[in-house]
Amino acid sequence: MRSIDIHAHLTPQCFIHATQAGREWHGIKPGSVRIAPRAVWTPEQRLADMKSLGVDVHVVSTGSGFYYYDRDPQTVAAMHRECNEEVHQMTVDYPDRFKGFAQIPMQDVKAAIAELDHAVNRLGLVGAMIDDKVNGRTYDEPEFMPLWKAAEQMGALMFIHQGGGTMVRQRSTRYHLPNTIGNLVDRAVTFASFVFGGVMDACPDLKICLAHGGGYTCFGIGRMDRGWQVRSEARVNIQRPPSAYLDKFYYDCLTHSESALRMLIDTVGIDKVIFGTDWPADMAIDWPVSWILSLKSLTQEEKEAILYKNLEKLLGLEK
Ligand SMILES: [Zn+2]
Repeated sequence: MRSIDIHAHLTPQCFIHATQAGREWHGIKPGSVRIAPRAVWTPEQRLADMKSLGVDVHVVSTGSGFYYYDRDPQTVAAMHRECNEEVHQMTVDYPDRFKGFAQIPMQDVKAAIAELDHAVNRLGLVGAMIDDKVNGRTYDEPEFMPLWKAAEQMGALMFIHQGGGTMVRQRSTRYHLPNTIGNLVDRAVTFASFVFGGVMDACPDLKICLAHGGGYTCFGIGRMDRGWQVRSEARVNIQRPPSAYLDKFYYDCLTHSESALRMLIDTVGIDKVIFGTDWPADMAIDWPVSWILSLKSLTQEEKEAILYKNLEKLLGLEK
């Protein structure tokens, strides 16, 4: 059975080569970025690991450590261009094995649109991976609307994935909670920002994938609906309850829990759940294809939809 992984990161070789040689790279000092052991691997080493995992295609995203939305936009735009060219080269060298996401400099919306356009229309990347926030600002802010309109028009998939500190970091930095809880909190806030902010009504064809199964979105949707019913400020931008928008998003399967994945499928619909593993992070699913195939509460059709059929359709990868 085929498998296509929407959530697979890259530490760019251009960065590794520069910093291993002791050089600064677009303002990043050598040794200032934490690199997972497998992250230094070449595309060929990655392919060997994919083979052992039974994963056919990586939709490669340069890691969230390279967002740098708080730095000079021109410097970061040049950094992102170099990352995007490297991802593009992987898709050229191994067209059946790699597709790619762009990095775009979100601190400058015009520059972000320009880089997304270059990445999608010239480099053939499928969209962009972006943070849940930009220097504290959420995606219901009007300044981002031109980007959503542009992405919708390009057919670009926006993959939402936290970077830097999540909101939980302000409460506790212990026990890895900023990641294990924070990622899921941030994702629910992002869902709510898009929905309550009216972005999904303004851009009905905008394609968004929420990483980590959309975080706490599904578990919390009933309370969001209740808030919409009883509080006028929740209805400022939308005429329908938040739950009516659940199936406007895609969600990766990265829940680390069979019952949570079952709930995700039952809440958003099987056609919206796609395969994502978080390669090569320590928080990745260890044997992701085997895990999906082993789940007793999923039908064979559901497993096939998650592992490849939904992404084939979404990204035009039908064989
Ligand atoms: Zn990730």
